[in-house]
Amino acid sequence: MKIIDAHAHVFPHYAEMAVKVMDKAGIDSTVTLEWHDGFGKVLKEHLKIFSNFKGRFKVFGNIDMSMINEPNFPRQAVEELERSVEAGMVGLKIYKNLGLELKDRDGKFIPIDDERFDTIWDKAGELGIPVLIHSADPSFFWQPINEENFWEGVLQGEYAHWSYYRKGFPSREELLSERNNIIRRHPKTIFIGAHIGSSADNLDYITQVLERYPNFYVDISARIPILGLQGLSRKRSVEFFNKYCDRILFGTDLIYDDEHVATGIQSQTFLSEEDIDISGLTNIEAYIKTSADFVKSHINFISTSKIQTNPPFKRIKDSYVIKGLGLSEEIQKKIYNRNIEQIFK
Ligand SMILES: [Zn+2]
Repeated sequence: MKIIDAHAHVFPHYAEMAVKVMDKAGIDSTVTLEWHDGFGKVLKEHLKIFSNFKGRFKVFGNIDMSMINEPNFPRQAVEELERSVEAGMVGLKIYKNLGLELKDRDGKFIPIDDERFDTIWDKAGELGIPVLIHSADPSFFWQPINEENFWEGVLQGEYAHWSYYRKGFPSREELLSERNNIIRRHPKTIFIGAHIGSSADNLDYITQVLERYPNFYVDISARIPILGLQGLSRKRSVEFFNKYCDRILFGTDLIYDDEHVATGIQSQTFLSEEDIDISGLTNIEAYIKTSADFVKSHINFISTSKIQTNPPFKRIKDSYVIKGLGLSEEIQKKIYNRNIEQIFK
């Protein structure tokens, strides 16, 4: 079956490595999301590199957020967007820093539905490109970090800065309702909510959002662990995937950057050398292997009902078990390729 990964981060100098992983794991093409600097000269250089791989990559660029507090930010961003699409960019990626990091001149967080972005969202719709937006995070990131927190194994280590618990950040509810505001205000623009729209731990909530806004889609990237927890959320996930099969995109969130390739372990697994055996392999070989295994785990999850003990995604400290959704072939096709192809049309 043709599989399109609708959410990955490939630094251009790792494009060849990413293609090796795609070939190994059975991925036809990958949407790669530029890392904050995907506009202007940098974007053009990257587009050129990715175009050498004949249809294997589609590139989503960014907005120059360093200009956010300049008076002509909206106009310049819109003009840049036009030039980027002209150059070959096929989507816009907005990171969670909108809402959780970017601030006004007076030091206040800029809300996701700030009116400075209105003409930008409209322009994306007019140009026919989707906006892949990561807003907020799982509810666990706002909760105490202890054994009841499903992300405990991640939030305690290298990624402690992802915890927003009692640090003065906007609440998850505020961020999600600001995101919903822009989806509502720009019905001709397609928005894709990354990571099940940051609501994999609350499918009832995201169901309401999908019901309300037909211009909203979600990708599954980086959320398989919670979706597949046997006996807890898995049953609800099967229901959700069947009902919203026209609005769900396959994605992995694979990362190919210098920092992580050097470790030999695909960054998105959050595993360390104590967790898996990569001895005897070079860093590059190990990174290809751990990335391909990671993708295969996703495909198993969608296509089969197999139980995966110790799946390659660290979350809680202990090991845990997920069970595949075992979706029908018709539904798999929509999630793996048809929905995203429809968006690109
Ligand atoms: Zn991502």
